[in-house]
This record gives sequence, structure tokens and C-alpha cells, in this order.
Amino acid sequence: KTFEELGVAPEIRKAIEEMGYENPMPVQEEVIPYLLGNGNDVVALAQTGTGKTAAFGLPLIQKIDVGNRVPQALILCPTRELCLQIAGDLNDYSKYITDLKIIPVYGGSSIESQIKSLKKGVHIIVATPGRLIDLIERKVAKLETIRDVVMDEADEMLNMGFTDSINAILEKVPEDRNTLMFSATMSPEISRIAKTYLRDAKEITI
Ligand code: AMP
Repeated sequence: KTFEELGVAPEIRKAIEEMGYENPMPVQEEVIPYLLGNGNDVVALAQTGTGKTAAFGLPLIQKIDVGNRVPQALILCPTRELCLQIAGDLNDYSKYITDLKIIPVYGGSSIESQIKSLKKGVHIIVATPGRLIDLIERKVAKLETIRDVVMDEADEMLNMGFTDSINAILEKVPEDRNTLMFSATMSPEISRIAKTYLRDAKEITI
């Protein structure tokens, strides 16, 4: 299949073609049409390097209502490096979508500039859980308008002790949302989070 056949919009196809993406990778073939088609929640077992960032990133970007500058999608990930990587990839994919704002928020750097950017208005927040909690408590990160949540490298986030933070964050996102979980491994804790926060999740193993 081609990205066009998966339903990816022309302005996004133009950007990824320039990045050298010719054909969708398997996880993208599975996840993209599902997310674009108002599918249910997804648990995907996929390693790094399988193309998972574009699998969730392309449909997330395509679903954003750019005219409404409120947070519409939230991506949670374990580390600053991954946070910056995902935000950078999403910026590349959305090169031809004007005014789409994506902000990375992560610990270990000044919170002040992150507060300033959030106050200006964003569409997509890419966050490490601890820093996001801090920003929620300061009332600068508001999650009431979020419609899509992605947990990337969920197993790593649990290993790093973010379970309570993830629980607290997911309690603040409207129930009427799509939730996707990507993990390299399956564990009892991953299934518990999936059971608690995902509804009728489709399971995909790559
Ligand atoms: P990820 O698993 O998201 O870290 O992606 C692994 C690598 O594959 C990254 O360097 C991506 O830029 C690249 N990539 C993702 N999708 C495609 C594609 N459809 N064609 C070629 N490269 C891709």
C-alpha cells in the first residue's frame, strides 16, 4: 500500500516524501488507517526503529484542527531525548501545515520557557510525565481539550517509576478520547494500565 492509500493527506505526503519515506512500514500500514478512521484504542508491541513515530504522528497531525489553538493531542514518553526526537519528527511531518504548534516539555531544563510557550497556545504536547505534572499543578498545562493520547515506550516509563504520574495525567484527560500505547515488551503492569485506561483496545504486534 501507499501512504495515499492509507489516507495520509497530500501536504503531509509531500513532507515525508522529501524525508525519503517512499512506502509505509508495517506498523504504519496497521496503525494509520485505523487512527484516521476513528478507530478504537490501540496497544502496539513495537521496537524502536520500526517506524512507530510516524505510525502515530502522521494521523495525529492530520486530525488536528489548526484553527483552534488548544491542546488536542498529548504524547507521553520516558526521556528528554525521546521527547525532543518525537517533537522534531512531528515538526518535520507538519512542515507544510502552517501554524501547527508542537511543544516538547521535559525535566532537567528551565520550566519558565516551557510555561511561556504553553501560554502562547499549542496543539500538540510531547511530554515526560514528571514535568507535565508540574505544569498541570501550575495550571499552565490544561488537558480538558485533549482528544488523543499516545504513550510511547510505555514499558520504559513504568521502569523509570512514572506509573503514578501517568495515572494522575490520564485521570485529567477527557474520557472521550483515543488512547494508544506503544511498548517494546508486554508485562502485567502494561496490561493493567491498558485495562484501566484503554477501551476495546486493538492489539498489534510488529
Ligand atoms: P522510529 O521507529 O519511529 O524511531 O523510526 C525509525 C526510523 O525509520 C527513523 O529514522 C524514521 O525517520 C524512519 N522511517 C519511518 N518511517 C519510514 C518510512 N515509511 N520509510 C522510510 N523511513 C522511515
